Amino acid sequence: MISHQRFEHMLKKQTALSQYSTYEIGGEARYLAEPNTTEDLILLLDQVEKKGMNSFIFGSGSNILFPDQPDPDTLFISMRDHMEAKFHDNKLYVSAGMPMSSLALIGAMNGFHDFDFTFLLPGTFGGGIFMNAKYFSRQMSDVLDTVYYLDLDHISRGVQAIQAEDCEFGYKTTIFQKHRWFVTGADLKLEGTVNDPQLLNTILDQFKSQLYHHSSLGAFSSYYIGHLEQLRSQGRKITAMEDVITDRVGKKHFDYPSCGSVFKNNYDYGVPIGKLADQLNLRGTEYGRAMISPNHGNMIQNRGGAKASDVVHLIQVVQESIDKAFGFVPEPEVVIV
Ligand SMILES: Cc1cc2nc3c(=O)[nH]c(=O)nc-3n(C[C@H](O)[C@H](O)[C@H](O)COP(=O)(O)OP(=O)(O)OC[C@H]3O[C@@H](n4cnc5c(N)ncnc54)[C@H](O)[C@@H]3O)c2cc1C
Repeated sequence: MISHQRFEHMLKKQTALSQYSTYEIGGEARYLAEPNTTEDLILLLDQVEKKGMNSFIFGSGSNILFPDQPDPDTLFISMRDHMEAKFHDNKLYVSAGMPMSSLALIGAMNGFHDFDFTFLLPGTFGGGIFMNAKYFSRQMSDVLDTVYYLDLDHISRGVQAIQAEDCEFGYKTTIFQKHRWFVTGADLKLEGTVNDPQLLNTILDQFKSQLYHHSSLGAFSSYYIGHLEQLRSQGRKITAMEDVITDRVGKKHFDYPSCGSVFKNNYDYGVPIGKLADQLNLRGTEYGRAMISPNHGNMIQNRGGAKASDVVHLIQVVQESIDKAFGFVPEPEVVIV
């Protein structure tokens, strides 16, 4: 009974999924919840099973295309409020909902620069592990030690642990895409020792009180660039993150709602999808209110009021054009719900 009451308390009703997606696309979810602990996530999933509902769990929606008309029997669960971090055994434990950009800042504040590559990478830590998010040559698997997860087919087993080397990490592939395993957090390897564990807690409290969620990419980038300014004024070493700003802002990543790159590159073919799209003059192609970015052939933007169906149409245009010209169908990286 108490579980049922807690479940009801956590439910948000008739919530626009567009507020939970950097695409700013998605119709009204009948039910949505944002648990801030693993215990609450387990409680939600348990109740979903008892009530015969479906669930879709996600992070901050930076790699998702939500439907225009969501299934009314699905509880959408965002983990973006699940933020925790602590030091133990010279490892840093971080929970699924921590924004990857915050991880970079927390590292820099503590003198670690292993996580600089996650700066301005939209999305949560858990979402980054699921996709083995990467930036140039650095990827999430480089910094992970142990990953904690729930087997969604066996919730009663509770949180389980798996070593990073067993997670089948590859280019944008992981074991978490093969099974219904949901990442609740992970230990990060740290190079060097932590001088001031207490400082981390202070920083985290500061972040938690200031954090707001950015489905708008413009607000997201301004927020983190502002934080970096503060670090610069404190004399911290931030050069690598400044380079990230130059790169991502220069490539106009934050000018329009999008999910970043739509397709995984095909390394067997050997030419990035963006370049192939360029060879076919696909940049700037429009459908409804969606457009293949004029700046990047592997990005599809919402130019204001786009529907999921507009984006799906352009995805098919790129797939069919590349298949016809180069003989393979590019695999979407974006998760189409
Ligand atoms: C402007 C822009 C630039 C980007 N640049 C890059 C880039 O350089 N490199 C890159 O790799 N990606 C990039 N991305 C894509 C995106 O940021 C990453 O894929 C990110 O890891 C997604 O995290 P999320 O929390 O938003 O996941 P969501 O979009 O919320 O979810 C995506 C998928 O992950 C699953 N998922 C989420 N959390 C978990 C979890 N804890 N356990 C298991 N499954 C989970 C969801 O179920 C869903 O299937 C970019 C996106 C944008 C908008």
